[in-house]
Amino acid sequence: MSKTKQLIGVHGHGSKHWVGDGFPVRNLFPSNGVRQLSPFLMLDYAGPTDFEPSDKPRGVEEHPHRGFETVTIAYQGAVDHRDSAGNSGTIYPGDVQWMTAGSGVVHEEKHERAFTKAGGVFEMIQLWVNLPKIHKMTGPGYQAITASEIPVVTFGEGTFARIIAGELNGVQGPAKTFTPVNMFDLRLAEGGTAELQLTEGHTAAIVLLRGGIKVNGGSAHGPAQLVVLSREGTTITIQGVEESVALVLSGEPIEEPVASYGPFVMNTQDEIRQAIDDYQTGKMGHLEATA
Ligand code: MN
Repeated sequence: MSKTKQLIGVHGHGSKHWVGDGFPVRNLFPSNGVRQLSPFLMLDYAGPTDFEPSDKPRGVEEHPHRGFETVTIAYQGAVDHRDSAGNSGTIYPGDVQWMTAGSGVVHEEKHERAFTKAGGVFEMIQLWVNLPKIHKMTGPGYQAITASEIPVVTFGEGTFARIIAGELNGVQGPAKTFTPVNMFDLRLAEGGTAELQLTEGHTAAIVLLRGGIKVNGGSAHGPAQLVVLSREGTTITIQGVEESVALVLSGEPIEEPVASYGPFVMNTQDEIRQAIDDYQTGKMGHLEATA
């Protein structure tokens, strides 16, 4: 039985800052005070920003993560990454990198070399998804999901959802998750409508990158807005007032204590101290020097 989710709030971005020298981000939560989106911990929206051509790739130098997953969605521009386990790759527009930090990974994230040389518009999302206690110390891993692997549910001309994770209308997304998560890259034509059926009791939010939407009796106008809906209910109806790009997030809340410090998200302060010690003593590894 379907029941409409209630629109709880529409929020602007919180902090606006640079991550390294490559990611000019607007934080869509939690720095704006929105903290009830478990299993989603944090979302940074980088750009859209026009970068001048350069010889030196901009980005974030070597840093660790433990206890959660980072999801990077590329809209414009491209990101090179490499890590302490010897993995490396490039995230191009339309691609998604789903990285399980688990017990610990040390990596760097930089603008891709050809993009750096040519310059251009850069636009990404990075989202942190919590891991439940039983999986926080799982081995690190990557899912490099290319645009062609992401199935599409079409609602009308120019109105469709790319199913990154979870399920919509019987179509399953490619990302493997530790707890139930839905993640849809939603595109709306002006006047286009998408009706989404989500799981009763799950967190639900819409990140509006740009455009304007009507949603469940309310409205939001971009850029960079966060729409929060009730866990109760199942149905979200979104209409594009103009052409719009949005990211739909839904998932089973992880009802466990959260202790976080910078790039570590655990359940207790003791576990945070252990993470800092393990990083500082090299137990998460280091990147090899570049030539
Ligand atoms: Mn990182």
